Amino acid sequence: AKDATAEMLARIEQDNVKFLRLQFSDIFGMPKNVAIPVSQAEKALTDGIGFDGSSIEGFVRIEESDMLLKPDFDTYTLLPWRSHETAVARFICDVHKANTQPFEGDPRYVLRRALDDAAKDGFVFNTGPELEFFLFKMVDGKPTTLFQDVGGYFDLAPSDLAENVRRDIILALEAMDFEIEASHHEVAESQHEIDFKYSDALKTADNVITFKFAVKSLALMAGLHATFMPKPIYGINGSGMHVNCSLSKDGKNAFFDPNGKLQLSETAYYFIGGLVKHARAITRVANPTINSYKRLVPGYEAPCYISWSASNRSAQIRVPAPRGNSTRVEFRSPDPSCNPYLAFAAMLAAGMDGVRNKIEPPASTDKNIFHMTAAERQEAGIETLPGNLYEANEAMLADDVVCNALGKHVVDALTCSAEIEWDSFRTAVHPWELERYLATY
Ligand code: GLN
Ligand code: MG
Ligand code: MG
Ligand code: MG
Repeated sequence: AKDATAEMLARIEQDNVKFLRLQFSDIFGMPKNVAIPVSQAEKALTDGIGFDGSSIEGFVRIEESDMLLKPDFDTYTLLPWRSHETAVARFICDVHKANTQPFEGDPRYVLRRALDDAAKDGFVFNTGPELEFFLFKMVDGKPTTLFQDVGGYFDLAPSDLAENVRRDIILALEAMDFEIEASHHEVAESQHEIDFKYSDALKTADNVITFKFAVKSLALMAGLHATFMPKPIYGINGSGMHVNCSLSKDGKNAFFDPNGKLQLSETAYYFIGGLVKHARAITRVANPTINSYKRLVPGYEAPCYISWSASNRSAQIRVPAPRGNSTRVEFRSPDPSCNPYLAFAAMLAAGMDGVRNKIEPPASTDKNIFHMTAAERQEAGIETLPGNLYEANEAMLADDVVCNALGKHVVDALTCSAEIEWDSFRTAVHPWELERYLATY
């Protein structure tokens, strides 16, 4: 450990780093950071840096608020959009309690625990997300929902701006060692998607946080607002975060079996069985905002029924065509407002429940579910995802596997926040109501 620390310090000096950002996430997946001057680097890398956890959402009570940030050396990277003379580097940190035990409310720890559990059976969980987002105009320094690249005919220059921003984002991410696989304009106006290479779920979750931060920073530098809000505009597609998942064992893809049905292994089928069984509970963490449920409605390429298919995209769980080492299951319900650590932990626990208890998935649904009647869906045993945050939270509370994976601390904090959010939303008078009733009654 001494050598690793010395090596890290040398690297920091060589990179001319003046400030270090020690980053972690609250239970909502919001990145937090403490900035320290490089003079404190040695202390940070050896003992960690103390902070007061009591003001972080979902963290601790006042009387036990002394927390410690322990930098994970593997996550060291320069922030490429800062000047090189006064370079800024960041570490993603594990959060420990003052007694140096890992803190149960640290989302990274929740995911580590789930990964360690799967490792008992020799499995590594890999995830590859597809993040969608909107680039909106800023007016007077405030974000709006005005499209940046609508109207085509007259807006040649603004549409170039969006293209340039996307290119800058990709260059910055590549400078941070992301392997960008694809980037394209999405279905809706001003909507974009950038896909990066899959990794083990911990690295991917770190990447998701970094990705969102980089996209927002670079958009802002171009005077635009990037939003990962799931459904910013009624009537057009929302933004999803499809998650491609697979298990590997002994370095081999454990979902692939050249002799299996559809060339999928039993492990793959059981994993799907687990995802289906726990889908409603997973939704609490994969779709954690009030607004998430405005996306999970028919008509916008987002799922709202629990189902799987190898051939059709209206299913919640799809098996994309590639096989061999690329064999994977695409879980299409999550949205980018989720805390990726918690979402991956819940998905993995669900999948492992399937694998360990040999949960057979239901028959696959190979026709467009949105064209089926309610009676046909019932006949086929197709259940519906929770319709709102309150229902999703109830579903989580009713699911021991998902609750165990998240741990009591996180379940309690999520429940408390869902109650507050839901109460505030359900008592608000929505513009829709005024439009519908004000003149009529
Ligand atoms: N935006 C859609 C969603 O909400 C997905 C569109 C697509 O990638 N085909 O999930
Ligand atoms: Mg995609
Ligand atoms: Mg997409
Ligand atoms: Mg997809």
